[in-house]
Amino acid sequence: MADLVEEASRLCRECQACCDGTMFSMVEVDADELPLESRRRLKIVDGPTHIAQPCRHLEASGCGAYQDRPARCRSYACKQQRDHLESGGDLEARLKKVRAIRAIAARLREVGGSHWELQLRDPLSLPSEVSLDLVELAVRLHRDLGWRPYRKEEPAAPMRAEPSADDPSEP
Ligand code: SF4
Ligand code: SF4
Repeated sequence: MADLVEEASRLCRECQACCDGTMFSMVEVDADELPLESRRRLKIVDGPTHIAQPCRHLEASGCGAYQDRPARCRSYACKQQRDHLESGGDLEARLKKVRAIRAIAARLREVGGSHWELQLRDPLSLPSEVSLDLVELAVRLHRDLGWRPYRKEEPAAPMRAEPSADDPSEP
C-alpha cells in the first residue's frame, strides 16, 4: 500500500504554491510567534501579524525552517493534500495539476513580478496570453488547490502531511 504521507510530502516538494506567493501574498503569524519570526528576519507586512510571501524560508527542497514554522503553516493543507491524505488516489494526476500551476505562475512572474501585481493592472494593457494565463491560474487554484480569499476568522485547514523521517524539509 502506498505511503500516503510520503506521497503527500512529495506533492508539496514539487508544488510549493502555498509558500512561494502563488496562493497567498502573506501568511498570518500568531502574536506569540512574532519574536521568533523577527529573529529570523522575516519580512513583516500589514501591521505586526503577517509575513510576506514568497517566504524567505522557502528553499528548493522545501521549508528551511520546517521544525519551527509558524502555526498557520503547520496546520494548512490545500485540497490536493487533504484529498490525498484522506483517500489516496492517482499521485501522478495530482503532480500534473500542481506542476501546471507552478508553470503558469512562473510564466506570469517573468512578465510582472507576481500574478497579484498583474491583476492590479489595466486588463487592456496586458497581452492576451498573459490575460489567459491569469484566468487559467485562478481557475486551477480554485479547482485543484481549493484556493479562496482568506478570511481571518476561519480556522486553518485541519490536515497536513508531516515529513517522513528521511525528509525533514517538506514545505
Ligand atoms: S499544501 Fe498544497 S499548495 Fe501547499 S505545497 Fe502542498 S500541495 Fe502545494
Ligand atoms: S512552511 Fe516554511 S517556507 Fe512555507 S510559508 Fe511557512 S515558514 Fe515559509
